[in-house]
Amino acid sequence: MRRVLRWLQRVFQAVALAGVILLGGLLPACAMVPPGDAAPPTTTAISGGPPTPREQALAHARASQGRLLMLGSTLYSAVLLGGFLLLGGTRLLARYTAPLAWGWGVTAVVLGLGVTASLLMLPLDYYAGFVFPHAYGLSNQSPGQWFRDYGVGEAVNTALGLPLTLGFYWLLRRAPRTWWLWTAGASVPLTIVLMLVGPLFIAPLFNTFTPLKDTALRDRILAMAHAQGIPAHDVFEMDASRQSRAANAYVIGFGPTHRIVLYDTLLENFTPDEVQYILAHEMGHYKLHHVAWGIVLSVLGTLVGGWALSAAGGALLRRWGGWLGVHTLGDPVAYPVLLALGMALSLLATPLGAAVSRTMEWQADRFAARIDPDHAAGISAFHKLARLNVAEENPPTWAVELYGTHPSLAQRIAYLQGLEHTRAH
Ligand SMILES: [Zn+2]
Repeated sequence: MRRVLRWLQRVFQAVALAGVILLGGLLPACAMVPPGDAAPPTTTAISGGPPTPREQALAHARASQGRLLMLGSTLYSAVLLGGFLLLGGTRLLARYTAPLAWGWGVTAVVLGLGVTASLLMLPLDYYAGFVFPHAYGLSNQSPGQWFRDYGVGEAVNTALGLPLTLGFYWLLRRAPRTWWLWTAGASVPLTIVLMLVGPLFIAPLFNTFTPLKDTALRDRILAMAHAQGIPAHDVFEMDASRQSRAANAYVIGFGPTHRIVLYDTLLENFTPDEVQYILAHEMGHYKLHHVAWGIVLSVLGTLVGGWALSAAGGALLRRWGGWLGVHTLGDPVAYPVLLALGMALSLLATPLGAAVSRTMEWQADRFAARIDPDHAAGISAFHKLARLNVAEENPPTWAVELYGTHPSLAQRIAYLQGLEHTRAH
């Protein structure tokens, strides 16, 4: 009888596992029906007027499918992680890592689960990163290029993530009560180093950065930067068209790695006046110290999140630790528990982070409107962003409030139109 029960349990586990894996592969296929007339719009004829009804319908279809994909991906990760914990994954891990020294145990669990999760998420990631943008004419990548970028990204994540996770675990073990305080403290220099290193060493793994060839535009941008007291010496263009049709620009880094970067897709489709307006917005982020504010807020977030993780993790282990085979959060096998709690906490924090981001974007928009009086260029630049990126100008309010990092383009355009209107009277 007992043997039959155990056999049934095994069968159930195998079926559940197969179901989860199938779900990951089939979900995107069911969710996605690319619109039949989604012919990629020609990039040369992007005008600065509002999107046509057909463009609006396409942008709406893309946004709705994108939201479904995001929901599916979240549910899929939750099912994978939840299934692993409920099916006794931690006890299995404990059996294999018991003979290992603590550090090797942590390394084995983090790498083993990381590689497994990457493989299980690959179909969905491929769909979201390759098939989906291709259906809307947004991606310029071949499958080979996509897989190359994906591999490089995973390698960078592992090279940076593994030592950081080991350090984090070391704190968990050394200071079981106050580790979250130390983690928040350590996150300050780490964030600054990553921000310094990112533009110099990580971004060039994916794209090529060259000094802006259009010298007239470069001089115009540098003049505006210097008038704002921004110590920029050069403007870079990035071959963003390698990956995507989408346009953007940014001012990044500080000190020696400080630079202004324009996507080649922006240079191709936007007039110098429109480029200048977009950069006025980016300079707003710089002048209003949004990078420094970002660091301060992320340290605060790490502090609150770490405390919540510590409290929730402790309560969970007191109640279920025996069943899970996890005794303290510093155990190597506590990793999936920490991941599950971290995922839940970051989901809860998403609307708050998005609200902070939207506030900063509004501030940068106001700054741009003040230093660059050519509001008409701003309006046509926003329309072009919508058309080129197949983005909704007016997404549902709930979507903006839940996870929107920017105010809607419709709101941003309405703000500039309001300024034009007051000036006309
Ligand atoms: Zn911005």
